[in-house]
Parts: sequence; C-alpha cells; structure tokens
Amino acid sequence: MMTFQMLCFLFLFSVFILCDANFSVPYISVNTERLIEDLKILGQFSDGDYPGITRLLYSKEDKAARRYLIALFEKSGLSVSWDPVGNIFARWEGSDPRAPAVASGSHFDTLLNAGLYDGTLGVLGALEAVRSLKEVGFEPKKSIEIVAFTSEEVSRFGIGCLGSRYLVGSLTVEELLKLKDSDGVSFENARQSCGYIEKLRESMIAEDYYSAFVELHIEQYHILEDEGVPIGLVTDIAAPSLYTIEWKGPGGHAGSVPSYERQDPFLAASEFALNLEQLVLKDPKNTRATIGRVEVYPGSAGAIPRSVRLSLDIRDINEAARIKVKEQALEKAAAIARKRKVTMETLHNYSYPPAKMDPRIVEVIEDSCRAHNFSYLKLISRPFHDSLFMATKFPTGMIFIPCKEGKSHVPDEYASPEDILRGVEVLAETLARLSYQ
Ligand SMILES: [Zn+2]
Repeated sequence: MMTFQMLCFLFLFSVFILCDANFSVPYISVNTERLIEDLKILGQFSDGDYPGITRLLYSKEDKAARRYLIALFEKSGLSVSWDPVGNIFARWEGSDPRAPAVASGSHFDTLLNAGLYDGTLGVLGALEAVRSLKEVGFEPKKSIEIVAFTSEEVSRFGIGCLGSRYLVGSLTVEELLKLKDSDGVSFENARQSCGYIEKLRESMIAEDYYSAFVELHIEQYHILEDEGVPIGLVTDIAAPSLYTIEWKGPGGHAGSVPSYERQDPFLAASEFALNLEQLVLKDPKNTRATIGRVEVYPGSAGAIPRSVRLSLDIRDINEAARIKVKEQALEKAAAIARKRKVTMETLHNYSYPPAKMDPRIVEVIEDSCRAHNFSYLKLISRPFHDSLFMATKFPTGMIFIPCKEGKSHVPDEYASPEDILRGVEVLAETLARLSYQ
C-alpha cells in the first residue's frame, strides 16, 4: 500500500519532470480526412488532364492556389504575409514572439502533369500539424511559422528552388530579372501579373530569423516501402552540378562521306554517354550522372550532324566526389573529341553545394518518432528540396513518408492516409518540441 509520503514524492517527482522539460506535448489528434480534403481541393487548381496536376509558377491556377492557401491559413488564426516573389508565411505567434521562430513548409507548384502530394504535403501537413496542436490547447513558446515556397520545380523558368533560394539570398534580383519562360515571358512580368507588384529587392533574412526549419515530404523513391518503415529521417541532401557540352564537326552528305572520313559530333556524344555510364558504375551507390537533353543540329535524316549539345547533370552528397566525376568525365569528353577530330566546348551552368541536415534537429525528429512508437530509418535524399537551400542558413531537418512504389512527378503519385497521419504526427511533435528549445 502507498503511504502519504510516497504519494507526495510521486507528485513532486512528476511536477519536477514536467518543469524540467519546460513543457509537455499533449496527445495530438491529427485530422487526416481534413488534410486529404485540403490536398484534393488544392489539386483542383490545375491546368492539366485529371488526375495529373499542372500548376506552374504565376499561372492563373497558381494564383487561385495562393488565394486558397491564404484563406486556409487565416481561417486557422495565423497571420499571413508574403515577400516580393510570393513566398507565403503564416505565423502562429508564440509566448516569446521575439525568439527566432520554428519554421516548416514546402512548395505548392508542380511539374507538367504531376502528382498530388509532392510539396503540397509539406505545406498542408504543416498547417494540419499547427491545427492539431491548437486543438489540444498547446501553446508555443517560440512562434511557429508555415512557409509555402514559390516554385521549387524547374517547370516554368528552368530554375529549381526559386523561392527558397531567393529567401536565403542565393538568388539575386539581377539573376531573377534575366529569367524568361519558354514563351519569352519575363519573370518580372509574370510576377506582376500574379499580383506581386511590390518592387523586387534582395531578401535580407537574418541567420537567426528561424531557429529551425523542418520539411515534411514524400520520399519519391521506395526505400521506406521496401523496408516496411513508416518514417524516414533525412541526414543529407545530394545536390546537382549541371554542365552543357557541345561537339562540332563539318557535317556532310549522309550518302557520299564514308565512315572513315567523318568527323561526327553525334558519335562523339554517343561514345561519351557510354563512357559516362562506366565511370559512374565504379561507385554506383553514390554518384548519379544523367544526360537528360540532347540537341542534334541540323537534325536532318540525310545529313551528318554539325553539332551535338547535351546536358550533363551530376549529383552527390559529397562535393569532392562530384567534382572528381566531373573532371574525369570532361577529360574523357576532350579525349573523344581529339580522337574523332571534332571541337568541344563546355559550359558550367550551376553547382549547388550538398546539404547536411542539422544533427540536433534530426535528434528531435528521432525523439518524436520514439514518443509515438514509430520505427524510422535514416536516409539520404537524392532529389533536392527547398531544405537544400534553407540548410545554408538555418538548422534544417526533413521527415519523409513512403509513397506508393516510390513514384513521384507522375499523376499516380500516392501516399496512404495512414502514412500521412504518422508523418504529420511526427511533424507536430517535432515543431512543439523545437518551439521550447
Ligand atoms: Zn517536392
């Protein structure tokens, strides 16, 4: 039987535990139905064949999606603002409003004929996390801010993570003003026609503006599904380098010039492509190299090509390894050019540094998984996300949930309600914990 002293001790001990943690996260009840309904409504703002979703930056569908998101944020009592490129911020003020906020979000644009969950899960999932925390009476200490990023996909202006890059200062106004879409519409005109008429200025966000950034996202591959694990904790994000290589030759008649006399840039490009595959196969687990675009000029069936231009995308989480593959690939390309007597030019389009997720944030996400008894797996994100750039300025972490057969950027992209529920519960728990750290 318990004595009065024992009861007193237990009471004081539990008070001590609560005070020591400074807060406690109440039982969170995520409303998955409400979240999926929001995702489906957002999916209707699309200029494409159902069920594929097409929502390009500053299109009328993007504008309608923006209005819908802002209305949802306001309905949940969040104060909404935006910057000149249209990154949208929805803030839940904490009891210490001057402390650096905890941020969570993702993007809501899509590629052509894409899926329902990529990016949008991170925006609406963050909103659902906030709504669930509000509903159980949680009061944040640091403010919690949802960020809905402008244009993570490359679909309209050929540049990825436009909003997050602008926010952290890795994309300047000068660079933005040079952008044009494939119809020749300038970024500036498109921006203003979407209602963002405020003069473009450099983003001046301070290093300590956010104390943490956490992005919830579908995995876009099938490691979690294969392993039967519901949550992925991202440790690193691989980043791309993009090069354009062009070989040129004199061309000639397809009928008259014999093979031994030709200086054929297409054969140089072909030999290069097969060599590249062999080079990458030496370390197949890490480096990725892709030739995604090939332009053959003049492109006539009856003429030997005069030029071939191709894109070379190399990705890795290790920058030194990425540089090594690039150097070896370009050396080989030059050797092939000499052998085949064609000229070669190389253009470096861009290189982004790979990102490491912040160990402290990863630990908080791990603790949140344990608190909910969810198993998890640490993994690398091969696709890049807004987190790649947020990590250049703020301590960042990413939570992955499985998507069916790893499919993404396609109309049948799918995440189950059960997986979404677990992802948002972990996100809510993580945001609540971070708001008291
Ligand atoms: Zn995405």
